[in-house]
Parts: sequence; C-alpha cells; structure tokens
Amino acid sequence: MKIRTVEVIHVRIPLRKPLRTSHLSQKDVDAVLVRLETDDGLQGVGEVTPILGYSAETAGSVDSVIKEQLVKVVMGEDPFRIGYIQHKMNGALAPGTYQEAKAAIEIALHDILGKALNVPVYQLLGGRYRESVPVVGWVGLDRPEAMAQQARQLLETKFRAIKVKIGGSQEDIVRVKSVMDAVGGEIEVRADANEAPVPDDILRKLDGFGLKWIEQPAPRDRLDKLAEISRRMDTPIMADESAENTNDVYRIASTRAADVVKLKVMRQGGLLETKKCLALLDAAGIQTTIGHGFNLTLGALGEAHVVLSSPEPVEISEIGGPFDKMTDEVAAEQVQIEDGMLVIPKGPGLGTSLSEPKIEKYLIERLKLSDNAA
Ligand SMILES: [Mg+2]
Repeated sequence: MKIRTVEVIHVRIPLRKPLRTSHLSQKDVDAVLVRLETDDGLQGVGEVTPILGYSAETAGSVDSVIKEQLVKVVMGEDPFRIGYIQHKMNGALAPGTYQEAKAAIEIALHDILGKALNVPVYQLLGGRYRESVPVVGWVGLDRPEAMAQQARQLLETKFRAIKVKIGGSQEDIVRVKSVMDAVGGEIEVRADANEAPVPDDILRKLDGFGLKWIEQPAPRDRLDKLAEISRRMDTPIMADESAENTNDVYRIASTRAADVVKLKVMRQGGLLETKKCLALLDAAGIQTTIGHGFNLTLGALGEAHVVLSSPEPVEISEIGGPFDKMTDEVAAEQVQIEDGMLVIPKGPGLGTSLSEPKIEKYLIERLKLSDNAA
C-alpha cells in the first residue's frame, strides 16, 4: 500500500463566544486538515488547530510547511511505516519545529492504519486501558461574578472538573475566590495563567484556595522560575506552554520545573510522540494530563485515543473544542459530550471522515497533490 494523494485544507470555524486568556481574546479558530489517500482508495484524516500567542506556529505556517516540505516526505510511502515516516519528517525540518505539521500527518496515518485493519486507533496504541474520558469545563477570563456564574453552569451540566483562566493580576484572587465560593466544595478547580508572570504575593494567596493545580504561572522559557515556584508552593504547578516538544519535556523533567505537565497531540508532534512523553514523565515521577482546548473533532479524537490507551494521564483530561467552544464542525461524525464524558464515534481508525459541504462553508484554502508515478 502506498500514499498517492495528499490534501491540505485550511478552514476557519467561529467560536460560540470570544474566549479571553492572558495571551489574547479570539473569536474563531483556524484548523489545518490533512487527508491522505492510498493507491487502494483508503483515506485517513488528521487535524491541528494552532492558537495565536500560544502555538509556535500559525495555521498558515503549518499549511505552508506541509505543502513545501512534508508532502514529498510522505508521498509514495507505505502508511503502515509510521515510525519511519515520522523519522523522515523529523529529518526534513529543524529539530523540534513544526510539531503541528508533523502531528496532522501522523494522525492521518493512524486513521488509515486503523481503517486498513478495521480497528479503532486506540487498539494501535496499546489497546484500551480505560473505559471513558471525562473532561474539564472551561471558564475564560472575565469579571469574577461572571466567572463564578459560568462555573456554576458547568457544574450543573455535569462537567467533572473546572478550569479557570487567570491573568497575573490582583484580580485573580477575587476571581479564584468567587469561583471557589460558588463551586469549590463540589468540584475540582484548576487555574491557568497562560504564561502571565504571576507575582509572588498573588501566588502566596492563591496557594490557600485548594486549587488542583496552577498552570504555567511564568513565561514558557523561564523553567528556572517555574521550578522555584514549584518548590515553594503547596499547590502543584503545571507546565503547558513550556512543553513544546520532547526535548522540552525532558528539560522540564530533568530540572524538576513542574509537578504536572500538560501534553497535546498537535504540539508533541503526533500520537506516538505523545505516548513517548507520557512514558518519559512517568519515569520521572511527574503527573500528566492531555488536552488541547480548541480542537475540532479530529484533533479531539486523536487525543481521546491516546488517553483511552494510556494509564499515565490523570483521570480528567483537558480535551475541548468541538462540544464546548465551536459553532460548527467539519467532521461527518462528531465527538459529543454526555455528563462531562466524551462520546466518540464508533468505527475503525478515528471513526469519522470529512464533510465536504462543511469544508466548502469554512474554507480558507485547499490544495490536493497526487503522485502520478503509480
Ligand atoms: Mg494552558
């Protein structure tokens, strides 16, 4: 079996409401979709949704690097040789860069493999370890009373944990207090500073609220600061933006810069590399969670299959997007949420395909390249 067609599709999906973090406020999400087709007509799809201010790449740069560099790497190859193709993609780009571009292709390769063998992707990743994937509900930066009200709604709609954005200012104390007063006794609450440098006096006060953890309270390249905060605080400290690739994950582990690390399939460079990072962090005695908050269905499914097949991540994941933030979707069968748990489509591979009318509706740019050497 050989890959004969590579299609790269850039779409833009509006968010249900603008989401504000310390990086920026955004009202839509750009996704890059990859569809691979083999000489015997099997198709596999992958997706990444880089976020401005958060991701090292944009959808435009991911789209370009796939067309310029990675199409020629994957074209003509046997899609079963995922490790080999991954190695070639790593060799075609500077080390640790364009993780999202590699991930989009690697997810699509797993989808083809699952469809060829008639098994879900989690069967290719070690088999099913857990039955379900509970996820967090998200509360963006807002006035404290609005954040408390939103947390209450998320609790009522049966999310299993709540994640609140903070911004590194004195107002964070009122924000966290309002949310904890509203729901703190009933549900686990996590806070995320998204690299806003949180001053020491604010961190000291936040330490007393019983938060599950505080995420990235220092810029991504300040592992020294993150380590110092982790040593000082009772509340566990999580690295997110700091964990851009496997080398970063190794540096976090070897410098004990965080108590918990957030992994994302799009940023780790694919499903297999995310599994490697899970093993690395487990060996270092560091907890993990998985989940990009702004996936479309395909990205969310890639992450869900990693969680389903892995013992390492904490029970409640941070996978989000299709069921809580997007107004629409480009996958034909979608990921749903029920009582705070992901409901994933059944079927081989990722269990879904792309909807042509939806792609046309949200299209920014598309390119389909075929290998005519067949
Ligand atoms: Mg984060």
